[in-house]
Amino acid sequence: MVKVIQKNDKELYQCEECGFHYAEKEWAEKCEAWCQEHKSCNIEITAHAEENKKYDSKI
Ligand SMILES: [Zn+2]
Repeated sequence: MVKVIQKNDKELYQCEECGFHYAEKEWAEKCEAWCQEHKSCNIEITAHAEENKKYDSKI
């Protein structure tokens, strides 16, 4: 199940398999479904994670 986390007055959704956080529940669900099936991450999905968005904005 995707976890809902409150952070800085906004909700984030966490994939319980890999631990990435998403602003959209849809992406978290896609990520979790992929992670469970493939036991690895799909970089096209994790690119939407908050962790990777922050990283992009720094460049
Ligand atoms: Zn995942």
